[in-house]
Amino acid sequence: MSDYKMIENEVDQLEGLIWDMASDVWSFAELSYEEFESSALESSALQKHGFEIEQRAIGGLDTSWIATWGNGAPVVGFLVEFDALPGLGNDTVPSKTPAQNGNTNGHGCGHNLIGSSSIGAAIALKRHMEKNGIPGTIKVFGCPAEEALNGKNYMAAAGVFDGLDVCLHNHPAMVNTVVNFHSTAAIDLWIEWHGVTSHAGTSPWEGRSALHAAEIFLVSANMMREQMEPTSRLHYQVLNGGEAVNVIPDYAKVHVRYRGKNARDVRKYKAWLEDMAKGAGLATQTQASVTNLGGIYDSLPNDVLASAMNQHVERYLPIDWTEEEQAFARAIQREMGKPEEGLATDILPLPTGIEVGGSSDVGDVSWLVPTMGVVYASWPKHIPPHQWGCTACNGMSIGRKAGLQAAKVMAAQGLELMTNPALIDAAKAEFEKQKGGETYRSLNDVESNPRGSLDTDQIAHFECCLHAAMEHFGVDETHD
Ligand SMILES: [Zn+2]
Repeated sequence: MSDYKMIENEVDQLEGLIWDMASDVWSFAELSYEEFESSALESSALQKHGFEIEQRAIGGLDTSWIATWGNGAPVVGFLVEFDALPGLGNDTVPSKTPAQNGNTNGHGCGHNLIGSSSIGAAIALKRHMEKNGIPGTIKVFGCPAEEALNGKNYMAAAGVFDGLDVCLHNHPAMVNTVVNFHSTAAIDLWIEWHGVTSHAGTSPWEGRSALHAAEIFLVSANMMREQMEPTSRLHYQVLNGGEAVNVIPDYAKVHVRYRGKNARDVRKYKAWLEDMAKGAGLATQTQASVTNLGGIYDSLPNDVLASAMNQHVERYLPIDWTEEEQAFARAIQREMGKPEEGLATDILPLPTGIEVGGSSDVGDVSWLVPTMGVVYASWPKHIPPHQWGCTACNGMSIGRKAGLQAAKVMAAQGLELMTNPALIDAAKAEFEKQKGGETYRSLNDVESNPRGSLDTDQIAHFECCLHAAMEHFGVDETHD
C-alpha cells in the first residue's frame, strides 16, 4: 500500500472524531475572542491523542493554544480557527431558518471545519509517523478571532511560529484550489477627538465640535485616495458623531481600515492618517488620539508549496456529491437568486501571480515561515461566505464530506514534508525569494490590545483574503 493510501486510511478512521468536533463547534457558534467551548474541545481532543499543550493564552488571546507532538526536525505547523459570525445562525435546511438551538451566531465562514480538519490531519499524521518510525514534530496552533483579523498577528508577535519549517492551513469555500494568492496588508485604527460641549442654539461659540474634526479628517482621507496606489483600499465607519442635534458634540470616533500592498506601504499611510487626525484637531481646537487595533501582513504566495499541495488536492478532491446534496445546494442558490449550478465538481487551475484586495491574519504567518493552504467546496457555487446558506451546509453532510477530504489533503501534505527534506529546502528558497530581503516587524503596537473593544456588528463586517479570493473566482467566468 502506498504511503498516501495509508495516511488516507488513518484519516478515514478518524472520520467520526473529525465530524463530531466540527458538528459540536458548529452548534457552539462562538464569536471572535469568545471561543471558549470550541477552543477547549479542540485542544482536549489533541491531548487525548497524545499531543501536549505547551502554551495557552498567547499574546493576550485567552482562547489560543499550541499543541505539540514528536521530536526534532522537520517541524510542521497546522493552523486551527474556530470563531463564528453574528446573525448567521441557521438550521441545516436550504432556507433562511433559525437554528434549532436558538443560537443566532453561525458558522457562515465554516471555521467549524477548519479546526476539526487540521486536528484530524495532525492526529492521522502522528499515528502514521509512530507506526512507521518517521521523525519530526507536529505543532497545532489554536488561533482565535480570525474574523476580527486579530489572532495570528498577535501570536506571531509573541514569536510562536518561529522554528517551524512549513505551516499548513485550510478553509472551506465554494471552490477547490490551493491558497496561493498575494493578499493586502492592513491596519485598523480608531481615531477619537475630544472637544467641548455646548448648547448649539444659545451659545455655540462656547463649544468645540469633535464632529467637525471627524469631518475634516474624512474629507482629507478621501482626498488622500488620489495619492494611494491602485492596490490600496481605505474603509471607514463613523462610530460616534454626537448624541443630540442641539448639542455641540464633544466626542467623535472613527474606525479606519487601510489596506496596502505590503507592510511598508501600510506604515507610510498610517503615519499620514495620524497626521491628518492631529491636523483635524488643530483646525477645530479639539484633541485627537489614535489607537492602533492591530495590523496584519500581506500573505506571501509560495509556488513550490502550491504545486506540491495541488497534487494532494487532485488526489482527494473534488468530492463526489449525492443527488440530495446537489439538490440542497441548488435550493440555496434558488433562495439567494444565484445560478442553480449546485456544488463545485472541479478543481480550479493552479493559481499563481494572483493579487487579491482582501487581507488575512495568515499573512503574518506567511512572513515567518513558508505557508500554504487548501480551500475546498463546502457550500454552493456563486455563494460568497458569511451567509446563512454557508452555515446550513457546514452543519450537514456537505460539510462533513468536505472537512474529511480537507483533512486528507492536509495529512498527505504533512507526510510529504516530513519525508522529503528537498521539498522543505525548495519551499524555503521560494519563501526567501518572495520576501525580497524584507524582514517581518509586527504592525501591532507593543502595548496594543487584540480585543480593542470591538462590538459584534463591526466584527460582522470584517473579511479575510480568502473571501476576496473566492469572490474573485466566483465572478471570473474563466475560472468558474
Ligand atoms: Zn473564514
